[in-house]
Amino acid sequence: MAPMEYRYLGNSGLKVSVLSLGGWVTYGGQVGEDVAEQCMLEAYNNGINFFDNAEVYASGKSEIAMGNAIKKFGWKRSSYVISTKIYWGGDGVNEKGLSRKHIIEGTKAALERLQLEYVDLIFAHRPDVDTPMEETVRAFNYLIEKGLAFYWGTSEWSAEQLTDAWRIADKLGLIGPLMEQPQYNMFHRERFETEYAPLYAKHGLGTTIWSPLASGVLTGKYNTEIPADSRLAMQDNAVMKRIAAGLETAEGKEKLAKVDKLKPIAEKLECTLAQLALAWCVKNPNVSTVITGASKASQVTENLKALDVVPKLTKEVMEEIEAVLG
Ligand code: NDP
Repeated sequence: MAPMEYRYLGNSGLKVSVLSLGGWVTYGGQVGEDVAEQCMLEAYNNGINFFDNAEVYASGKSEIAMGNAIKKFGWKRSSYVISTKIYWGGDGVNEKGLSRKHIIEGTKAALERLQLEYVDLIFAHRPDVDTPMEETVRAFNYLIEKGLAFYWGTSEWSAEQLTDAWRIADKLGLIGPLMEQPQYNMFHRERFETEYAPLYAKHGLGTTIWSPLASGVLTGKYNTEIPADSRLAMQDNAVMKRIAAGLETAEGKEKLAKVDKLKPIAEKLECTLAQLALAWCVKNPNVSTVITGASKASQVTENLKALDVVPKLTKEVMEEIEAVLG
């Protein structure tokens, strides 16, 4: 297997593995802590150094599962980078959003669940248009000053909101967001490739991209049916039910047809569809790290081998893929 590649996170000195692992849906929810441990160990032993979380994932149980695993394995703190994201903390009026109160309280609660003194990366999980940007910028800077987090970033903010945050941080002599966490995959490209395009060089924006397999649709496993052990079969998860229903629409069927057309390309490159889709993300130099998800350690093993596929994505192959994606 090709060795892990490490990329600078934007214009910082921090290096993250180009493939990373996150806990959405899976850890603390869909699978038990034993599986979370197996996935994290397989990832870490193969060079993955970045693990992604959010206070909202399984209502905090993802952070607990990851924190327990890290403690059990006794990983040296400097050997990994861990994040969490703040926005949806709970039902109380002050338990969500990006007020100074929720950012600071939410981060402290997350650190307790993770059993850590600090996270490396802290994200604003969504924009909060009801809180003054200055309050949010100041609160994330407070976390950094107090050593509770080292870098702050955003998730699914518009280019305009990011620019506003940088402008305010500059005015106050504070630190602006270093990284953004957007969805990016073969089916979801507009914001990453177009809206953010001017920001990468100008602001040194790093990116930690999510759902690189479009929740597994790009693996081809949904082309015939919804496998019982897959996330789209989770009847008690509203987001998964929505994605599953989406596959029945004309747009969904078009996506599945494209996946079918990607199959011969993967076969020619002697890789799986999952590896092709992940390698395609890695190929983009504006991607700092591709956050993968896995409900089984064998998926981590398979996905790591996407690194072997990246050099095979020549100009011709990329054009072939583009012709399929339209
Ligand atoms: P993916 O789109 O890659 O989906 C991952 C899921 O696909 C796995 O849990 C597994 O589900 C299935 N899968 C993975 N590999 C394979 C394989 N080789 N073969 C078959 N099935 C496979 O990523 P996620 O949607 O999980 O997102 C990744 C991470 O991004 C999250 O964990 C989270 O950290 C972050 N994220 C951030 C968001 C944000 O708003 N900032 C939003 C969403 C995610 P199964 O086996 O159950 O079918």
